[in-house]
Amino acid sequence: MENRIEGKIAPLLPVRDVVVFPHMVIPLFVGRPKSLNALEDATMKGKLLVVSAQKDPTINEPTIDDIYRIGTLCQILQMLKLPDGTVKVLVEGINRVKIEQYVGIAKFFEVQISEVSITEPLTPELEALMRDVVNEFDKYVRLHPKVPPETAIAVSNIDNPGQLADVIASHMVLKLPEKQSILETLAPSERLRKILEILVREVEILEVEKKIHEEVRGKLGKTQKEYYLREQLHAIQKELGEQGEQEREIEEYREKIKKARMPAAAKKKALQELSRLQKMPYVSAEATVVRTYIEWLVSLPWAKRTRDRLDIGEVEKVLNEDHYGLEKVKERILEYLATRKLSNKMKGQIICFVGPPGVGKTSLGRSIARALGRKFVQFSLGGVRDEAEIRGHRRTYIGAMPGRIIQKIKQAGTKNPVFLLDEVDKIGVDFRGDPAAALLEALDPEQNSAFSDHYLEVPFDLSEVMFITTANVTHTIPRALLDRMEVIHMPGYTEDEKLHIAKLHLLPKQMDKHGLVKYNVRVTDGALLRIVREYTREAGVRNLEREIATLCRKAARKIVQGAEGDITFTARNLSKFLGPPKYHYGIAEKENEIGVSTGLAWTETGGEILFIESVVMPGKGNLILTGNLGDVMQESARAAMSYIRAHSKEFGVKENFYEKYDVHIHVPEGAIPKDGPSAGIAMFVSMLSAFTKVPVRRDVAMTGEITLRGKILAIGGVKEKVLAAHRAGVKKVIMPVDNKKDCVEIPEHVKKDINFVFVERVESVIKEALVKEPRRVVREK
Ligand code: ADP
Repeated sequence: MENRIEGKIAPLLPVRDVVVFPHMVIPLFVGRPKSLNALEDATMKGKLLVVSAQKDPTINEPTIDDIYRIGTLCQILQMLKLPDGTVKVLVEGINRVKIEQYVGIAKFFEVQISEVSITEPLTPELEALMRDVVNEFDKYVRLHPKVPPETAIAVSNIDNPGQLADVIASHMVLKLPEKQSILETLAPSERLRKILEILVREVEILEVEKKIHEEVRGKLGKTQKEYYLREQLHAIQKELGEQGEQEREIEEYREKIKKARMPAAAKKKALQELSRLQKMPYVSAEATVVRTYIEWLVSLPWAKRTRDRLDIGEVEKVLNEDHYGLEKVKERILEYLATRKLSNKMKGQIICFVGPPGVGKTSLGRSIARALGRKFVQFSLGGVRDEAEIRGHRRTYIGAMPGRIIQKIKQAGTKNPVFLLDEVDKIGVDFRGDPAAALLEALDPEQNSAFSDHYLEVPFDLSEVMFITTANVTHTIPRALLDRMEVIHMPGYTEDEKLHIAKLHLLPKQMDKHGLVKYNVRVTDGALLRIVREYTREAGVRNLEREIATLCRKAARKIVQGAEGDITFTARNLSKFLGPPKYHYGIAEKENEIGVSTGLAWTETGGEILFIESVVMPGKGNLILTGNLGDVMQESARAAMSYIRAHSKEFGVKENFYEKYDVHIHVPEGAIPKDGPSAGIAMFVSMLSAFTKVPVRRDVAMTGEITLRGKILAIGGVKEKVLAAHRAGVKKVIMPVDNKKDCVEIPEHVKKDINFVFVERVESVIKEALVKEPRRVVREK
């Protein structure tokens, strides 16, 4: 230990943010009055002063406790007064010293110090440590952006371990407490070890940092390079007077955008996307997405429309050309169009054709389009559950597309097509949103001038579209939608109408389709009637058309195979071509049976006749119901049963029959679900016949709800049911008195063929439906 300055008194300069090591030359900026005084004192006494760091650099007037006890005795090398009153002083560290005590604090800090340096012999171990430190420092310098590279060389020439440690410490970028702790580590070997530890840690951190940095740079570098090359390519192409692929494409789009006559918002959007596209690499995935989007925008008929032919007489002509009958429906269509013409806008209510399949709902829509000279598009809402199907997916989805409405508008190519939405009654709702709400927005004249599709993002004007909807039933159409619609019922055709439709429309259409027009192919009226009666059982004419098509195919084959002369299909030879008949026509001709009544049902596919069978067998008074009957239907069977039990005497049924017998009611075609209360009286008659053994008249069909007190209540679907009865050759129809009013809708020639009986109570049904009245029947009072 050297004792050269033992007990020496020197001025103290507290410094912030820096630790001065021995051997280090550093400029300090001094501004605090006390510090300036200390400087002044030092310059007068051999230019030596102690420099020690403040523990907290933010303190402006440090006290004794705020200053580290270990500092460095420094030599002042140079002083320079700066214009702002501060002094720049260049000092060189000489020795670490310990502040033993403060001898003055008022004007400036004056301290008594002792030297604390330790020297150690240079052992091989210490030398190895020194080399290690130098190597590690070398790495550190190379990695650290703020440490100049030449420091590594300066350091490698130092052979004093203490000095080496101090010089390295002074060059490292470290936090103040860490630097101070190095200063306070007195034994050089220990100090070196500490520095080595810190160096290893720092180098590791720097390496990780560098790796991250390089990765980021690598990515940037690639796109920058591409961009740069592309720019060069452009420049070269420009020089050569050539246009690049991309530029040509951009120009094309620009032209298309101009021609598309978009509204301002859409145009702005399109141009924005175009400028994005311009900046993207030509073949990137993102560019493809943007391109598809622009394609969609430019291909929509923003301003294209057809001129309406609103001559009502002309429209009527077209409707009549395309469809037989349907007088009332055509009338309503013409009224509807006339109203639109007067209000001069095709806005307002939306037509909804409601009826069973094959009655011409779709073809009427097509016909309206033809009559008005508009384009025609259609899509079916059956099973649509996802709002996105109507309104599209947002562009952030991969493979996103506009919804079906916009797709169809594009297909139409005009902004005012007739747009047929099939099966509005089959639209669904689930977790993927409410498609009905989206549909409502499209249909609502208040909102649809700015219909928003998720994909398009800009609104499209649907207000000139003429929407027509179709449905089989109205009760499943969402209320809000139904409110916007003008419902036109199409209940189905009579046999006679079907014959006419077949002769005037279906047959010529199918002949044309099959290329048979110039050949002598005939289908007799008798053949057509037989098809209607025995090969189809439907409200519409879909299967009829199908069977006619089959005949046309057979004829075509014959002709191709070289058949000579005329080909004629008659009622007689029909089964040779269409196979054996599928249905039995004329239940009236069948025998009367015990326990079988003829009911009338109404389904989505139109009216139907259905047979209700009952048998009575030994048992314990159970009522067995089979044939896929719904709850309501089962309940009405029970009600009928109870009524019979309650009035057994009057009906000629043994009083306690239910104690010994079971009744089984079955409604055939058991696979088809059946429900509703309207089979009440048919079940009543069927059971009563089974109990009394009096047969039911086969040519009588009946419909009506039954109450526990024997009253008969009105039912729905009268017209469809009567048409079905007529189709089946029924001669008498029993129905509730309250349904009398509905019979005005029934065509005259059907009324002519059928005898209607209106009943109020079950008792009056009995004598009409059973071949004779059971014994001991007490009549209506
Ligand atoms: P829907 O849409 O009601 O199920 P379609 O419109 O598909 O029925 O009609 C089925 C077929 O029957 C079509 O070829 C249609 O032209 C024809 N059709 C239906 N009703 C008539 C009619 N009154 N006059 C002429 N053809 C008809």
